[in-house]
This record gives sequence, C-alpha cells and structure tokens, in this order.
Amino acid sequence: MDLPLVARGKVREVYDAGDDRLLLVASDRISAYDHVLPTPIPDKGRVLTQLSVWWFEQLTPVLSAFGATHHLVSATDVPAGVAGRAMLVRRLDMLPVECVARGYLSGSGTVEYSRTGSIRDVTLPPGLVEGSRLPEPVFTPSTKAEVGEHDEAIDFARVVSLVGAARAEELRELTLALYRRGAEVAAGAGILLADTKFEFGLGADGGLVLGDEVLTPDSSRFWPASSWAPGAPQPSFDKQYVRDWLTSSGWDRVSPPPELPDDVVAATRERYVAAYEQLTGTSFR
Ligand code: ATP
Ligand code: MG
Repeated sequence: MDLPLVARGKVREVYDAGDDRLLLVASDRISAYDHVLPTPIPDKGRVLTQLSVWWFEQLTPVLSAFGATHHLVSATDVPAGVAGRAMLVRRLDMLPVECVARGYLSGSGTVEYSRTGSIRDVTLPPGLVEGSRLPEPVFTPSTKAEVGEHDEAIDFARVVSLVGAARAEELRELTLALYRRGAEVAAGAGILLADTKFEFGLGADGGLVLGDEVLTPDSSRFWPASSWAPGAPQPSFDKQYVRDWLTSSGWDRVSPPPELPDDVVAATRERYVAAYEQLTGTSFR
C-alpha cells in the first residue's frame, strides 16, 4: 500500500487517500479482552467490510430522516491488494463518544445492572438476567478509550458536556433509530441484535455522518433467535466462542495470548461467514 498510514488499530489500518478521504482496511486480526490474538481468522476482514457496506445501504433511509448520511464513498474503487476488505470513506472529525444501543442485557451491561440496577443513569426494571430483553432499547454511551484502555461507560450528562445538549440528544435518538432498524432487519433473518456500537463524526460541511464499521460481529452481539434463552450467556455469531476458548485454555489475560488451534480458527471463521450470509441472505463468495 503506497498511501500514508494514518492509524493502525487492533483490527484495521487507516490510510490517507487524499482529497479528504480515508481508506479503511480491515485485516483478519481478531482481538479479545483488549489483546490482538496471534492467529488471524481467514476472511474476517472481508466479512466485516462487506457486511458494513451492506448495512450502510440498509440504514440510509433512517439516516436521511435525521438529515444525516454515512461515510462510505466506494468499496470497489480501492487498491487491488486490499480489494474486498477496504472502504474508501469521507474523512470525518470523529465525535468522542461510542454510541452504544442495547435491546438486551448482556456483558458489561449485566455486570453493572447486577450491582446497581441500572446502566449509568439508565434505570432498568428489576429481575433482569443475562440475555433478558429490555422493555425498550436504551442508549448506553461510552468514551472512546485510549490505546490499551477499556471503554468507559458514561452517563448522558457526560455526553452533553462532550458534544453539547442538542448534539447529544440527536446522537441518542439517531442511535436508537438505527438500532431499531438494524434489529428489525436482523429479526427478519432469524437473528437477535442484542446490542451494538456506532461511531459518528462531522463532515467538512458540519453535517452528522455515520462512520466506522456498522452492525458487524465485532461491533455488535448477534444471537440466533431460535436458541435465545435468558439466564445464561447466549450462543452467538460474534467472538464469544473465541473468548470462551481462551478462558478454558487457562490464559491469564495479561501475558501474550496463545495461538488458536485450527479447529477454533475454522469454527470462528464459520460464525463470521454465517452472520454475513444469514443477515444479507446472500452467499459469501
Ligand atoms: P481498536 O479497534 O484497536 O480498539 P480503534 O477502534 O481506534 O482501535 P480501528 O477500529 O481498527 O481502531 O480503526 C478505525 C479508526 O478509524 C477508529 O479510531 C475510528 O474511530 C476511525 N474512523 C472510522 N471512520 C472514520 C472516518 N470516516 N473518518 C475518520 N476516522 C474514522
Ligand atoms: Mg474500532
């Protein structure tokens, strides 16, 4: 790649494509518990990219209703060496908030709810368990963590102090509207969208733009609807399978993570591809 590298995340490389554009290239790297694992998952970068591209189109009507757009310029006008796993996008001034929407209780949400009965300032009814459906979707934002840090859940007042009251309100309403549409589309494919994270930025004209990846297994929890059973962790299309394997391997989450065995790699790849195929209703190759 002869474009200047702007940033290298755990999963993606960001290049300057000139003309106020960036090239976002998804690798096959997989991260878990804030570590990049030494073993790549074949085709993961292409699945994440193609799924995002598909979702940007699905979500355009929702964005339009808010006077917003998405950042995708082209997924085909990209250098041949990264074709399939790269998106040419508008360069945005990213807002410093991870816009999380939850329709089900899971993960860090369950941990906080069990302790306090709420997620930050969002009060939830009593009696919920891991996997419970929430009465209605909630906006549970977090900060964008510095490298090596965990994202930190924040309350709505903190969002207001970061981006202003009107923008904060807009982010909450748009995040929930995008979640609802995403959940509706996923439900039609037999998949529950338990939660997801969006990132927004401002375009050169100051307009609100949906950026980053959208509704992928890396940014979302997808559960097969047919096996949904609250009260325990759900089988999922995301990397829960890898997390479970890592836990059973005895890895301490501090030292360098172990190589994944071939069968774990294959099963993980299967989950990513299955998520793509089931959601889009098209075959992956
Ligand atoms: P990590 O994934 O390692 O936790 P990360 O999320 O910062 O870190 P990636 O997701 O790999 O890294 O890289 C994508 C980066 O590009 C993110 O920082 C994201 O906020 C940013 N980004 C996404 N879309 C745009 C855009 N249109 N303009 C500017 N920055 C963007
Ligand atoms: Mg990211």
